Amino acid sequence: MRLSEMHLKTLREVPSEAELPSHILLLRTGMIRKLVSGVYGFMNMGYRSVRKIEKIIREEMDAKGGQEILMSAIQPAELWEESGRWYAYGPELWRLKDRNGREFCLGPTHEEIFTDIARADITSHRQLPVNLYQIQTKYRDEARPRFGLMRSREFIMKDAYSFDKDEEGLNASYRKMFKAYENIFTRCGLKFRPVEADSGAIGGSNSHEFTAISEVGESEIAYCEKCNMAATLERAGAVDSPPTGNEEDFLPMEDIITPGTKTIEDVAEYLGITPDKTMKALLFVTYDEDGREDKYVAAFVRGDRELNMTKLINALGIPEHAIEFADEKKMAEITGSVGGFTGPVGLHDCLIVCDSELTGQVNLVAGANKENYHRKNVNYGRDYKADIVVDLKTLKEGDPCPECGNPVKVARGIEVGQVFKLGTKYSEAMGANYKDENQLEKPIYMGCYGIGVTRTLAAVVEQHHDKDGIIWPMSIAPYHCIITLVNSKDEAQCSLAEQIYESLLNLGVEVLLDDRKERPGVKFKDADLLGIPIRITVGKLAADRQVEYKLRRDDIKTVLSAEEAIAGAAQLVNEESDGRCFLTA
Ligand code: ATP
Ligand code: MG
Repeated sequence: MRLSEMHLKTLREVPSEAELPSHILLLRTGMIRKLVSGVYGFMNMGYRSVRKIEKIIREEMDAKGGQEILMSAIQPAELWEESGRWYAYGPELWRLKDRNGREFCLGPTHEEIFTDIARADITSHRQLPVNLYQIQTKYRDEARPRFGLMRSREFIMKDAYSFDKDEEGLNASYRKMFKAYENIFTRCGLKFRPVEADSGAIGGSNSHEFTAISEVGESEIAYCEKCNMAATLERAGAVDSPPTGNEEDFLPMEDIITPGTKTIEDVAEYLGITPDKTMKALLFVTYDEDGREDKYVAAFVRGDRELNMTKLINALGIPEHAIEFADEKKMAEITGSVGGFTGPVGLHDCLIVCDSELTGQVNLVAGANKENYHRKNVNYGRDYKADIVVDLKTLKEGDPCPECGNPVKVARGIEVGQVFKLGTKYSEAMGANYKDENQLEKPIYMGCYGIGVTRTLAAVVEQHHDKDGIIWPMSIAPYHCIITLVNSKDEAQCSLAEQIYESLLNLGVEVLLDDRKERPGVKFKDADLLGIPIRITVGKLAADRQVEYKLRRDDIKTVLSAEEAIAGAAQLVNEESDGRCFLTA
């Protein structure tokens, strides 16, 4: 493609709404285009990279027996009522009505639709296993769309669903998809880590997230360098500290005045103790299916711990959107809590959920449910009991690994894909059964497997850029090579650039010829910004058929003959792509 003919608009300025390098660079290169918050379009260069990611995904999915189909984005509410998710999915589900008042949603994911296919089409064990997938635009009305393609309201996802006879079959399908994901993200040039994950609104028992390593990612993961434990912080089990005493050590409770000490740090400092000798209260209200206030919940963790919201939600068995921080005044009237001074003793008409660690900690300081007062020597069993005792705390750097006890590390990453063992959750809810060898009716075992195609694009840019622009891995670069023609008025230069361009095209290299009537500085800047892996500069040495050859990823410039540069470029493209990273191949 000649840049003189190409629809291309790059930006010198950093767009004001963008913070992350990937967001800034995808906008500055003109690869993506914002329409409204969380809604982006793809321009020619951007769409080429998207299609290359899709191509990699198709190749790897097909290699594992996946069969591609394409379902509609519009889904009828009835299917979601059947699975129970019309309510459970909450406000992220983009709902709409047709002219007759019938309810629909724009699919955020397609478990219901694929289960519906299975129940209609699969009747016999002879039809199993099967794996169906699609690459399609998804809709989620995210509370806070941000970071460009990372968290958008419309995005491209690959979603796959496996159908098996039994758990063993599901495990085999899951392993295949796991391997396909490793291949896909490796081919996209990502450094990533599969980690155990919570299964969230999708449901099911077992799940892994594929996390692209990045300091700006929204996923937090814990991992152990000794035993290979790796899990999202939402999911990672946290080990209780050893008990600090026995019942014989219980001292009498005592109220103490602690004026203005609303935070744990204030209380601990005021009393001259460490935060682990205190307990922290977090107050919530839950809602029922009709959106009415249901229950007040007081959650307690040791003062030095952070509450893990996912663990609390799982313990309560409610969807994420059905819980909020309580209005302290309203909660106080009903339960006897006092904002900033809430403790477990004497609370009433609310659900008390306690971190498991608290049951073994002796003589803690808690709120006294009295303005400006705390209570010393509060002990589980003697002074209060919880309705639920469960691990509620968030694992943090240096805490013991839940598997082996070694101190864990914590890092950030971008969730680019997730795989789930759904088991029979959807097939039982929706009646997707098959007849086994003995004509017995059994539920189909399902798995589901998602990849954020457009988020993957952003994650690649996040991992591959420098101050000047993107540095595309060959596999998903919009073009492999750019020929920068320094002076488009110089005949020798023009003719050599044209010759190289033709030769590379004939060799199948995806090549750009920058033949624009621009200053060389502008052309070099754009080439760096766009991040094309190979640059061949045709300048003053053109009369001698010599050019400058440079890779975007390093600073080494080599003077080569035109023929050497052509051969070098073609060889590199083939080496780095197994001959597969061509849009048309
Ligand atoms: P998150 O926790 O980031 O909200 P999720 O766990 O809800 O994501 P899944 O339901 O597992 O997402 O969807 C499969 C994949 O789709 C994710 O791994 C991610 O790559 C991508 N994805 C999900 N939400 C978005 C979004 N709002 N914008 C872009 N990609 C997304
Ligand atoms: Mg996920």
